[in-house]
Amino acid sequence: MPRVDADLKLDFKDVLLRPKRSSLKSRSEVDLTCTFTFRNSKQTYTGIPIIVANMDTVGTFEMAVVMAKHAMFTAIHKHYSLEEWKLFAANHPECLEAGNVVTGEMVEELILSGADIIKVGIGPGSVCTTRIKTGVGYPQLSAVIECADSAHGLKGHIISDGGCSCPGDVAKAFGAGADFVMLGGMFAGHDQCAGEIMEKNGKKVKLFYGMSSDTAMKKHAGGVAEYRASEGRTVEVPYRGDVELTILDILGGLRSTCTYVGAAKLKELSRRTTFIRVTQQHSQVFS
Ligand code: 5GP
Repeated sequence: MPRVDADLKLDFKDVLLRPKRSSLKSRSEVDLTCTFTFRNSKQTYTGIPIIVANMDTVGTFEMAVVMAKHAMFTAIHKHYSLEEWKLFAANHPECLEAGNVVTGEMVEELILSGADIIKVGIGPGSVCTTRIKTGVGYPQLSAVIECADSAHGLKGHIISDGGCSCPGDVAKAFGAGADFVMLGGMFAGHDQCAGEIMEKNGKKVKLFYGMSSDTAMKKHAGGVAEYRASEGRTVEVPYRGDVELTILDILGGLRSTCTYVGAAKLKELSRRTTFIRVTQQHSQVFS
């Protein structure tokens, strides 16, 4: 007989971080740089652990150059040619991970099989339709809390992948225990993204689509194979100019979160986190 797990599972929108006693006097005192040594490869990473998703719209070489300036990295999409890669990969090191999963037992399985960093998230993405097409998924905040616990028990690391729609969600993902946070939609629509700027109803837009959407599969595989369904959508997002301002907005938000909960370093954020369940995130007066 199928089992029903009646425990409540939560998403970013269901919680806020509870402010705590803080001796930090300025947001500039917060250190967002983290250093990790990975369990299996023994490699060491130092940087701000935010990753641009490996989607062909946002995971571009142009994006990687700007992110690297801020000590953040980009999971480059897999559709560049070998020649394009050779040109780019002189100075830019790679990083590998395994996923995507949402349960502690799969995290443990992957880490014990040799993976260092596990990507967590099934169905939370901004252009993902997996939950609609398959009925499978797991609310992202709970997935991160549970998977981080399993990974950290084995000295492994996790990436919270998908579902962040604002800097506050990024902070909640770190608060929940994510070592890294991967973002797609929040970086869409910028100069550094692939694709042309289009004019729609007098507004400038850029195309953003899931890597399992009809658009991506037509572009890279000649169409959706008969045995599968598209699990992504295509959207037009407002053109947002240089990604630099968006990066500063996210990092500024994170520093602010840390000051509210008294974390001098991003690495301390999850230890300083108490989530409170809420029924509303913010005022709707001007929504
Ligand atoms: P976002 O930050 O936009 O909410 O989520 C980005 C993540 O969505 C990506 O890192 C990837 O895991 C996921 N994603 C990207 N394209 C697709 C897709 O077409 N289908 C599904 N199911 N997930 C996608």
